[in-house]
Amino acid sequence: MDFECKARCVEIDCKRQRRMLMKLRGGMAELRIETGMWCRVRTDERICTMCDRRELEDVEHYLLHCTGLVEERMEMERLMKETVERWQGECGINGRSGM
Ligand SMILES: [Zn+2]
Repeated sequence: MDFECKARCVEIDCKRQRRMLMKLRGGMAELRIETGMWCRVRTDERICTMCDRRELEDVEHYLLHCTGLVEERMEMERLMKETVERWQGECGINGRSGM
């Protein structure tokens, strides 16, 4: 059984980024859906303040939909693409399957 790939999935050099990933995965990120609970803000009022979409600031909104984080999301996609291409190169897989 190959455990190397599993180890790569958590290979993040920056301590701050590792901590944020752990918080997002564990539901402890400082997003309004969580912080609102600490301050007893009604769930439907835990709206994102970084954009004007009027959506709950939860993990999905933060990672996928918030228009206030478009540049950061583009940088994340670029880094993910580089990482996948590097893994494909290491494994001898051609990523251009036409899908
Ligand atoms: Zn937003």
